Amino acid sequence: MRFFRVSTPGGPTWARDLDGSDLLELIDAAPWDSPRPTGARVALADVALLAPAAPSKIVCVGRNYRAHAAELGNDVPSEPLLFLKPPSALLGHGGTIQLPPESQRVEHEAELAVVLGARLRDARDLAEVRAAVLGLTIANDVTARDLQRRDVQFTRAKGFDTFCPLGPYVRTDLEPDDLAIELRVNGAVRQASRTSAMVFPTLELVATISRIMTLEPGDVVLTGTPEGVGPLAAGDEVEVSIEGLGVLRSGVAARVREA
Ligand code: MG
Repeated sequence: MRFFRVSTPGGPTWARDLDGSDLLELIDAAPWDSPRPTGARVALADVALLAPAAPSKIVCVGRNYRAHAAELGNDVPSEPLLFLKPPSALLGHGGTIQLPPESQRVEHEAELAVVLGARLRDARDLAEVRAAVLGLTIANDVTARDLQRRDVQFTRAKGFDTFCPLGPYVRTDLEPDDLAIELRVNGAVRQASRTSAMVFPTLELVATISRIMTLEPGDVVLTGTPEGVGPLAAGDEVEVSIEGLGVLRSGVAARVREA
């Protein structure tokens, strides 16, 4: 099953696909709220996609691939390094990443993302985690690298509006631990790895986080990026693909603030 969040004239609505086709059935509630079909259907090609989540928080993991930790001159941590992105950073498939004037170095980070489908607190084992996970999707943990170095704390560097592209959909029947992950800028491959190269595997990360903060339905966990991070420029087209999860596409433009 694939869940989508779509923009309709009546407002944002959840939808699910019919037998893997590109025809979507609109549903009357979030996937974790016992949704029923509204009776309306839309073609995937005809709707704008929103980020397929409703997070109270986006929990992220840093330095979770050895080669990426090394490329930034960092050691692999002995336990997961966690930080948060605000839900206001979310951007749907096909949206535009805005480069803020405060940064001269905004970089892409391709990541596997988990969307929760039930409350999870103090998970005792991976079976409990599995039962609480709705499914998997694709994220880009966009980062102002210069501000990250300057601030030490990650809040500003990771938190600008549009710095969390997510989507295009949540897939519920995929195992996370050995998926090809790739990121392309203007068609050129920048990052290419497999999720099997993670230091801390996906479900273990979710279990660890649940022992720190209660995870709620709709919350999102980003699992870290492989090596090959690099800069984005206005006019770029970024594509992140993960085996079984499709392609998450974003444009890039300079952010212009109203005076
Ligand atoms: Mg990251």
